[in-house]
Amino acid sequence: MLMIERSTTAWQQAASCRGIDPAIFHPETDEDADEAKAICAMCPVREACLEYALVVREKLGVWGGLTERERRRVLRRRRRTA
Ligand code: SF4
Repeated sequence: MLMIERSTTAWQQAASCRGIDPAIFHPETDEDADEAKAICAMCPVREACLEYALVVREKLGVWGGLTERERRRVLRRRRRTA
């Protein structure tokens, strides 16, 4: 989800969300995230994007096809299995 200003890495240049209305990636609720998730599902850099968001603990928006709540779940699961 590229609306936030940041340095552009190789994976970000291939992102499917480039040029798409950033509001789509900031749904009001998880239930409103379907459009963003559909774009992410086709994105060639989805895994890199998700890992980035997990590593930097990105709090807002859909990244790598997951909402903030879903990313928190992934992080909790990883902590439990670490
Ligand atoms: S996975 Fe989604 S949010 Fe991440 S770069 Fe691709 S389209 Fe953008």
